[in-house]
Amino acid sequence: MGMKKSIKKCLFKISSGYTDLLYRRPYLDKEAKLRRSLEGELLHLDLVITECCSLKCRDCSNLMQYYQKPENLTSDEVINELKKLFSCLRVRELKVLGGEPFVNQKVLSDVLRFLTGDYSGYVDSINIITNGTILPSEDCLEAMISNPKTKVSFSNYGELSNRQDEFVELCKKNNIDYQVTDDSFYWLDFGRPIEYNESEEFVRRQYKNCYNRKNCNTLYRGRIYACPRQAHGIRLVLIPDSKDEFVDLFDPGYTDKDDLRRAIIGLVRRKEPVSACRYCLNCKYIHVKRGIQEKR
Ligand code: SF4
Repeated sequence: MGMKKSIKKCLFKISSGYTDLLYRRPYLDKEAKLRRSLEGELLHLDLVITECCSLKCRDCSNLMQYYQKPENLTSDEVINELKKLFSCLRVRELKVLGGEPFVNQKVLSDVLRFLTGDYSGYVDSINIITNGTILPSEDCLEAMISNPKTKVSFSNYGELSNRQDEFVELCKKNNIDYQVTDDSFYWLDFGRPIEYNESEEFVRRQYKNCYNRKNCNTLYRGRIYACPRQAHGIRLVLIPDSKDEFVDLFDPGYTDKDDLRRAIIGLVRRKEPVSACRYCLNCKYIHVKRGIQEKR
């Protein structure tokens, strides 16, 4: 283990406060200026293609563990929402995730092929976030190879990611870009999705510093949300559904594509917290061991 990793691990054990100060540095927002200046592009967007996951992590901050009957989205649903989005904006980094995206390989392959054709200019990179438990089918691997913008990010849950090594070999063999994430030995605990009655100041600071609202605006079932926790919390009816806190791409109230673009950019640059932030404790910087499994 490298010196830097050992120090980091030690710090995690001693104090979450020091670790966040030194490593996560939530108060730094290197892309803030760019985010504020871009008019026709989003820096990052998370695209949800399934609610199903091959793991059931107790502390999943996206709330996937709360789905009783998780569903796969269809290719038509996902491609239609992408077409609608691309009618007014392009995306620099599109992250494809679930749940676990390799549970829904047909849709994943269709999305990759869709982004290889006429719409290839609408994204700069496609980052598939996986827990490394499922290998791609032959067809899916072919779709990944056919789109040179594809990258695979392995979340790396140690022994739980039991197909990760084989998958990495497949990536190497087929020249698919990949990274194995292990920048954190612990997760931040966002808490259960209940209203916490924290002070207004805490909620505002939490939203202001929140990594997810800066890097993980989420496209899910035709709507763009500030973060995946808000998206799934609303879907699960655990968090209030306030119409002015997301953008419904298919809302006929948007008169034209400029109107829709302005609404999306407004959400990305939003300064006020969303209601979901009152159901979230990410700014308490409580660390939990990642990937602790619940019974199915
Ligand atoms: S609910 Fe608010 S504070 Fe929590 S992750 Fe989402 S945007 Fe961030």
